[in-house]
Amino acid sequence: MLKKAYGKTGKLISAVAFGGMRFAAPDDIDANAAVVLHAYRKGINYFDTAPGYCQDKSEIIMGAALRQMTPGTFYSSTKCMAADGGELRKSLERSLERLGVEKIDFFHIWCIVRPEQWAQRKSGGAVAAALKAREEGLIGHLAVSSHMTGDQIAGLLAEGIVEGVTLGYSAINFPFRQRALDAAAAAGLGVVTMNPLGGGVIPQHAGRFDFIRADDDGDVVAAAIRFNVSQPAVTAALVGFTTTGHVDQAVAAVADFKPYDAAHIESMKRHITANFSGLCTGCGYCLPCPSGLEIPKLMDAYNMKVLSGDDKAILGRMRYHWQVPPDTAATCTGCGACEAACTQQLPIIERMEDIAAVAARAAQEKA
Ligand code: SF4
Ligand code: SF4
Repeated sequence: MLKKAYGKTGKLISAVAFGGMRFAAPDDIDANAAVVLHAYRKGINYFDTAPGYCQDKSEIIMGAALRQMTPGTFYSSTKCMAADGGELRKSLERSLERLGVEKIDFFHIWCIVRPEQWAQRKSGGAVAAALKAREEGLIGHLAVSSHMTGDQIAGLLAEGIVEGVTLGYSAINFPFRQRALDAAAAAGLGVVTMNPLGGGVIPQHAGRFDFIRADDDGDVVAAAIRFNVSQPAVTAALVGFTTTGHVDQAVAAVADFKPYDAAHIESMKRHITANFSGLCTGCGYCLPCPSGLEIPKLMDAYNMKVLSGDDKAILGRMRYHWQVPPDTAATCTGCGACEAACTQQLPIIERMEDIAAVAARAAQEKA
């Protein structure tokens, strides 16, 4: 298994990391722990979880597996979303107990979607509490997980507080996060990518995404993982596993694999962008919107409809991933500034109208 350095921490992480957010039948602790242990035996050494994942069973499953691993041969990772320092401390202590470890190797200030949330984690004492816990040895390294734009994440990293970042990065949205990767690389920080398979969108639409495969990529899953781990700034790609088969597929993707060189990565990026017919790549060239709309987030949500044909996919993506109310699309004035700048020549205004109509229908049905 290819291993890469996590920033300046001195830790070598397996290029494929275990994401504990997709366990099937989470009540079956032993069966799911067996999937984690299978991954460990296949060379995966970074195990990520969080309170609340999988009906709040993910940390318990991970703990059952970690207790069977040899100490010093794996890294644990979990998170906390609280802004209050006392709450973070309680959450950390509960995670330590559930995972059965004396220290969380990589502890994340969790789910920063907007810059003001990062400010709240600092003013509420969560960041200070995490730093204190690190001094006490309860945390190995402090990281952040974020869904902000590349520029916003770069700004956060420049504060020099965290040692690494976990962020969404895939063949679908890489332009949206590229600045963050560049900033992390320049500062020598670790980068773990979430959703390297586009949250399942890539394998679920394998035919549509077949163009991301290079000649020696067996399938789109291998291509998507290789695209991630080939980025020099990326330490590991976090894949949410449900079965041992999923583990084997991801491990095979990086077995005997040498990360692609810079020229090949750039050629892949050009190829992907050129073939994204009808999909938003999150490049951000349409910004700023005079009405303050977060166009790339709305268009990313619309991608879900383009791929699935289901209106509800838009609403789910906006509510649960981006935390943007779908009815904001109704504030689009149709000025057209974004369409003139869009690298994919998307009919943004028409899509805004569609999103607004879907949101209005959903509100009516709820009433
Ligand atoms: S057309 Fe709508 S989304 Fe595009 S820039 Fe104008 S107001 Fe913003
Ligand atoms: S709408 Fe167009 S310009 Fe804006 S992020 Fe998407 S692809 Fe880029």
